[in-house]
Amino acid sequence: MKKIALIGSTGSIGTQVIQTVLDNPTQFEIVALVANSSHKAFSEQLNRLAPAYAALTDGVAAQKVTQIPANTTFLKGEQGGLTALEECGADLAFIACSGFAGLAYSLKAIELGMAVALANKETLVCGGDLVMPKADKLFPVDSEHSAIWQCLNFNRNTPFERLVITASGGPFRGRKWETLSSVTAAQALNHPTWNMGAKITIDSATLLNKGYEVIEAHHLYNAPYSKISTVIHPKSIVHSMVQFSDGATMAQLSYPTMEVPIRLALTFPERLKGRLNSMDFTKALTLEFLPLIRQDYPLYDLALCCGERGGVLPTALNAASEVAVGAFLKGQIGFTDMYTVADKVIQRTEFCAVESFEQLCGIDKISRERAIRLIDEINA
Ligand code: NDP
Ligand code: MG
Repeated sequence: MKKIALIGSTGSIGTQVIQTVLDNPTQFEIVALVANSSHKAFSEQLNRLAPAYAALTDGVAAQKVTQIPANTTFLKGEQGGLTALEECGADLAFIACSGFAGLAYSLKAIELGMAVALANKETLVCGGDLVMPKADKLFPVDSEHSAIWQCLNFNRNTPFERLVITASGGPFRGRKWETLSSVTAAQALNHPTWNMGAKITIDSATLLNKGYEVIEAHHLYNAPYSKISTVIHPKSIVHSMVQFSDGATMAQLSYPTMEVPIRLALTFPERLKGRLNSMDFTKALTLEFLPLIRQDYPLYDLALCCGERGGVLPTALNAASEVAVGAFLKGQIGFTDMYTVADKVIQRTEFCAVESFEQLCGIDKISRERAIRLIDEINA
């Protein structure tokens, strides 16, 4: 029985992890659940799963959790979430929360010697330099990195020539950036192939998400940026590819759900029978690939510039993006303003190499403050 600590249990990935656990009750036990503020959904999860430890990081929402199971230790606040992880004795921490907050949980889980199933992409985008030297049991959940992992036969040291990351292109594929200033949050949230949380869905419409994935791939597979490409693949069937020196290209195909990467990260090195059918090749299927023009997607381009320069810049970019996406979703700024805010925050960030988690927390804080001021200026 594998003991799981699930961070971000109420989200898109978190609820799919719980479904997998419920489908396989003899294989997995959830020993800790952590979420932020969705107290109703969290209360239902507590009553269904009765984990030994549980925490809601939002103090006000935590007051609203009633009917805590008798054997569950219930904690509050960000420190409560980390304590739940520390005390629960899990074999594997599934880091499925959104945002910069994920880095603290990933570092804690690694320090505790747990295996880490990593969905939270901000962990590597912001803290790849801190995480990778210590991470020997890190199982990628982002579908592109899971695909690459599979193509490398699960060995991150397998030599390769190039990593090719696929991108659906999002809901505005084919449109020029300058024409997008008045698109609404509802239009941007309408992703053609994936059903995900709000932040990553908006980032998939701007392609910032794809820039993040290039940075993640750089850290996970020790790949220079010159050996990572992105290609537009509208159907999201090929999840990514690896090219080798003899001219061979390996690809991983499956229908666009997160079931394969979630299950693989839970059961590696085994594969777990899923609900998902394999691809049906008895019917005609056409797969299309189109080149991605980096300059047409300014947030993708900015992410790559930050990744290539490295240091604290990706952390500043992420903080600006978390604030800007929140403001866009609330109707405070337009779609293309998200780039303006992020770009100006980066211009005001001084480059320095990553030294510590505390240093990154400081960059995160100051960059959020800068982004909030820039949004106020846009609205003045
Ligand atoms: P959601 O927005 O659906 O869910 C986020 C989860 O994180 C919620 O449970 C939320 O709690 C919780 N959370 C937020 N802040 C904290 C915190 N400080 N401490 C603990 N928990 C917190 O996001 P997704 O599930 O879509 O994505 C999660 C991560 O996985 C992101 O980094 C995303 O980029 C990545 N990812 C997601 C994919 C997907 O298909 N969804 C694919 C690949 C990567 P609450 O509900 O209470 O606010
Ligand atoms: Mg992805």
